[in-house]
Amino acid sequence: MSAVPIGQLDELQAYAESTAGCTRCRLAQGRTQVVFGSGNPRADLMFVGEAPGFHEDKQGLPFVGQAGKLLERLLAGIGLSRQDVYIANTLKCRPPGNRDPQPDEIEACEPHLFRQIELIEPRVVATLGNFATKLLTGRPLGITRVHGQEQEATLGSRSVVLYPLYHPAAALYTPAMLKVLESDFARLPELLGRAVEPPAPPLPELALVAGPQQPAEQLGLF
Ligand code: SF4
Repeated sequence: MSAVPIGQLDELQAYAESTAGCTRCRLAQGRTQVVFGSGNPRADLMFVGEAPGFHEDKQGLPFVGQAGKLLERLLAGIGLSRQDVYIANTLKCRPPGNRDPQPDEIEACEPHLFRQIELIEPRVVATLGNFATKLLTGRPLGITRVHGQEQEATLGSRSVVLYPLYHPAAALYTPAMLKVLESDFARLPELLGRAVEPPAPPLPELALVAGPQQPAEQLGLF
């Protein structure tokens, strides 16, 4: 687990409380409550889904319906539970009728997600479905093209391994997609292990040949 100072945990709690009254976009009007996120505030593994649905909006927790149960089953398959990871969404409020998030809503809400990532300091961020994947990769490629392909990314001020996955809600009713999701999920322990390995110090002569390092892709939008 990441060594997060106590002050930072307080900061996450304070940030969650400050978000509870957010009116940055039109979704504030129809929500029951803001669904900030839940789980281990020191998690090495963070999931980012799309938006709260009916049950999430009522209960104030992400992934509590059938998709949540599937996510829990997939986590159990790699020896983890909800308490070990942190789960959040791209949008913190439910779109009416569970319609797709609109670009201006995503833009309004993304500072909340980036701040969460900064405060939780995960090593691996797994995006669930198209919306979270496109936002956090900064690319328009859909989930069918990029699922299971990890990449290094800088989110806010945090360098992470970004790992796109199918959304569990989509996999629920499509057995072929579920198989792919299970197979992609099975690589998470390896990615977590790789993410915690300290980088090998470069050999001086190789460092000279390689020249200056390219800056990591900056996707933060603060
Ligand atoms: S969706 Fe995000 S930006 Fe819009 S009101 Fe809710 S918390 Fe604020």
